[in-house]
Amino acid sequence: MNPRERVYVAIGSNLGDREAMLARAREGLGRIPLTRILAVSSIEETEPVGPEGQGRYLNQMVLLDTTLDPGRFLKALQKLEDENGRTRGERWGPRTLDLDIVRYGTRRLRDPDLKLPHPEMLNRDWWQREMDELDRLAPPADPDDA
Ligand code: ATP
Ligand code: CA
Ligand code: CA
Repeated sequence: MNPRERVYVAIGSNLGDREAMLARAREGLGRIPLTRILAVSSIEETEPVGPEGQGRYLNQMVLLDTTLDPGRFLKALQKLEDENGRTRGERWGPRTLDLDIVRYGTRRLRDPDLKLPHPEMLNRDWWQREMDELDRLAPPADPDDA
């Protein structure tokens, strides 16, 4: 079995009923096999990255722990996106639901399909704030695990 690892998942929505979408995403995350929710950040609104003329995002981050491997975990996130009306159009275009793995334990991966930590982790200041908040809510048991 894989080790239990702490995973930070960013939820974003800028299309439709964004609050409801965050709630559905949280519920869906809580139903991923071998996975538990440890803490949930507050919600923050941000300007969209990418093409102009789209609405603002609601963002929230969830801290989970899981024994799924990163590839399977990503598949579970993509299934949740699909179930919630995600269509895959232009890059950074509007979407009902976007789920990104920001950090997966201390794993480093550079696959085309999965980069860990997320390449934008240090560039998105709202992600930094959300990660700090989650670490306050659920302090890592061992600082070496952070
Ligand atoms: P960004 O990743 O810059 O926020 P985005 O979320 O709009 O952009 P998507 O179109 O949702 O990008 O995803 C493109 C691809 O990114 C996905 O098909 C997925 O395989 C890949 N990907 C690579 N690393 C990750 C990661 N850490 N979390 C989620 N998807 C990732
Ligand atoms: Ca994203
Ligand atoms: Ca994404």
